Amino acid sequence: VIAHEPIHVLDHGFVKLIDMMGNDARIVEAARNSIAGEGVRAVSEDRGLIRYLIRNKHTTPLESVVFQFQLKMPIFVCRQHIRHRMSSTSEMSGRYGVLPEEFYVPDVEHIQLQAEQNKQGRSTKLVDRDVAISIRSAMRADAMMEFKHYQNYLGGGRDEHGIGNPEITYLRDNGGLARELARINLPLSTYTLLYWKIDLHNLFHYLKLRLDSHAQYEIRVYGEAMAQIAKQVCPIAFEAFEDFILNAVTLSAQEVALLGKLLKASRSSWENIELHDGEVNFKTKRERDEWLAKIEKLVDK
Ligand SMILES: Cc1cc2nc3c(=O)[nH]c(=O)nc-3n(C[C@H](O)[C@H](O)[C@H](O)COP(=O)(O)OP(=O)(O)OC[C@H]3O[C@@H](n4cnc5c(N)ncnc54)[C@H](O)[C@@H]3O)c2cc1C
Repeated sequence: VIAHEPIHVLDHGFVKLIDMMGNDARIVEAARNSIAGEGVRAVSEDRGLIRYLIRNKHTTPLESVVFQFQLKMPIFVCRQHIRHRMSSTSEMSGRYGVLPEEFYVPDVEHIQLQAEQNKQGRSTKLVDRDVAISIRSAMRADAMMEFKHYQNYLGGGRDEHGIGNPEITYLRDNGGLARELARINLPLSTYTLLYWKIDLHNLFHYLKLRLDSHAQYEIRVYGEAMAQIAKQVCPIAFEAFEDFILNAVTLSAQEVALLGKLLKASRSSWENIELHDGEVNFKTKRERDEWLAKIEKLVDK
């Protein structure tokens, strides 16, 4: 039974499974749909089939598993999240309703400097703790001030914040500025709420990109929470995803050539590799044989 309790993420966010369809068995059924009179198969056979599908990118049966999540995330995270177009999103409206005063402030250990090499990332160098604490307080104060202005624009303000008292009184007496305008200066850290539907094939693609260490920490944690749920729903498919997608690497032509050269020189170290050999654990003989065939191909290049 999959818990529908929210998994808390960041300071006010969450990932909540609202509904779902399918599981590992559904993937197998979808894949075997064309085979008439197919009886109940052994679990190991189902596992082999799911692993075969994922290994060979026969991904359509994975689309038989669908998740609908409710996500509460800061707007800057949502902006990255909704780039994943092969999904369906319904977001709360800041035109229709008043946005609650909830914004993300990074924990002190996540206040990091700009990375020198990676223009899109953070440095691993530690920031002086007192400096980080001050930055965190300043970020909170900035966001609180923007929300005070928002209240004033909406006509519910009391103090002079951004606009003068006559304007506050005017807006209060006239029902406030349109909500679609009042919100426009709110910070990107403001939390928003989504209903988000995605099938397992596209969720795996999302997770491959967003669980990567190059993804921003604040979206990675949403990926981790959804991965936790997907793993409970489809443990076999998830294991195959980890083996053939998440922890797999793509090599360039130059990398293939270099690797082939190295492997040629060390044939004895790999040509008789066992199914279970130290840290290497192939799940089936077929997977070991496919690996050997790939290595032979590299060497022959
Ligand atoms: C680390 C990182 C940094 C990023 N930085 C930036 C950035 O700086 N700026 C920025 O704008 N984006 C950025 N992105 C977003 C990125 O470019 C993708 O838009 C996002 O990851 C979604 O991937 P996707 O298009 O594969 O997924 P989806 O939109 O879910 O699409 C899934 C797959 O469907 C197919 N597909 C979808 N739409 C089309 C289409 N129109 N035509 C053809 N095939 C399609 C493709 O095969 C695609 O892989 C970044 C993403 C990551 C992970």
